Amino acid sequence: MTVASVNPATGETLKTFPSLTSDEIEERVALAHRAFRDQRRTTFATRAAWMTATADVLDSRREDVARVMTAEMGKTIVSARAEAAKCARTMRFYAEHAEGFLADEPLADPSAVGAKAAMIRWQPLGVVLAVMPWNFPLWQVVRFAAPALMAGNTGLLKHASNVPQTALLLDELFREGGFPEGCFQALLIGSGQVEGVLRDPRVAAATLTGSEAAGRSVAAIAGDEVKKTVLELGGSDAFVVMPSADLEAAVATAVTGRVQNNGQSCIAAKRFIVHDAVFDAFAEAFTARMRGLRVGDPADEATDVGPLATESGREDVVELVDDAVRAGATVLCGGETPDGPGWFYPPTVLDGITSEMRIHTEEVFGPVAQLYRVSTADEAIGIANATSFGLGAAAWTTDADEKELFVNELEAGAVFVNGLVASSPQLPFGGIKRSGYGRELSALGIREFCNAKTVWVS
Ligand code: NAP
Repeated sequence: MTVASVNPATGETLKTFPSLTSDEIEERVALAHRAFRDQRRTTFATRAAWMTATADVLDSRREDVARVMTAEMGKTIVSARAEAAKCARTMRFYAEHAEGFLADEPLADPSAVGAKAAMIRWQPLGVVLAVMPWNFPLWQVVRFAAPALMAGNTGLLKHASNVPQTALLLDELFREGGFPEGCFQALLIGSGQVEGVLRDPRVAAATLTGSEAAGRSVAAIAGDEVKKTVLELGGSDAFVVMPSADLEAAVATAVTGRVQNNGQSCIAAKRFIVHDAVFDAFAEAFTARMRGLRVGDPADEATDVGPLATESGREDVVELVDDAVRAGATVLCGGETPDGPGWFYPPTVLDGITSEMRIHTEEVFGPVAQLYRVSTADEAIGIANATSFGLGAAAWTTDADEKELFVNELEAGAVFVNGLVASSPQLPFGGIKRSGYGRELSALGIREFCNAKTVWVS
């Protein structure tokens, strides 16, 4: 099997790589395991110096890295630069805060457990396998690797098969930053080779960001091996708009939320649930803005929406939209696959969604928005929660009671009130229900791949 970089704006194959042989995988797993034995004894200060240097290298190479991401998965060059900058900030965040997040936590009254001293000591678990998606090819990896390496773990990256060049760049960045050999390695392997790595006794744990199917498979194998996992899976998040909302801000954020990363973001708002009193005004302004977006070459600074990353990804979007239209949905804009090279799909708004349509329950990974009209906050919550996913919901209202209601009742790993759902290193990130489990980022994220060792001393 080969791992290939293909330009989604043209369909042209840029580079192919043979996947690693079992001997090559064995070499890398052994190296990661040996590196962990040294790494766990290094100080936070040493690791922070390497992490900060890696951030510096990334900043100095931002343009190259951004161009590789744009070329191999089609994100706009402007968003690719922003992604690289955010990764460098996150590296610095963990360089600065890891030691505090993992400091010993002494029990205030050890005599209550019959000890002279008792505490939690956070220690790294070992080699962590990261199975990652292509949509934010740098960010998804860094949000795992920055905390994991700062904790003293070592990482093996199985990146998505369509972003091998970004995977190899990550490898280079950590090495150029000074991390010793074996601390972070990209494995160019297909998904069929993941099981062998995951079952290897030298691999302690795994994290996967991707589809529900991939998550289920990795979690099943890890469960069989009794290994810790974190899963960050899909989402079909709600964006609720109530009559008191600042409509202009809500519309602008709704557009950004839906089309960011060409519509391929797990936490993108996908279902827009709007109160009857403002529905028509919202639908009109939202559709006008979606229609006005500039679709085209992602390397062009003026482009708002580039192509979808893969041909099969576009086919999935087309199928979901066609299914909805056949079942009676109204297309307010978009909905037609353009001719010509590349896997472009226009910003699309659908109204009249019913529960018979696949799009009602399945995640649509492209710039397609669904509108729902509701009469009450409770009705909005009912529709928002009528999904197997639960990642990051948004509610727009200036009413204090409604804010509390949405914060308490929306079933999601995060609720943002009057803002764009986004990840940041300071805040935990993750889902509930079939969006996965575990948390990345913040203090919670760095502790996922640590042993919370109970220490009792008499
Ligand atoms: P995907 O097919 O699940 O791929 C993700 C990664 O898993 C790739 O490295 C892929 O390798 C690997 N993989 C696929 N099947 C596997 C299996 N059976 N065993 C082991 N590894 C396997 O996901 P995608 O379609 O590329 O990405 C989109 C999905 O990711 C969406 O559902 C999106 O919502 C979700 N996502 C979630 C988050 C989050 O934070 N919650 C963030 C981003 C994306 P190959 O490329 O070699 O197949």
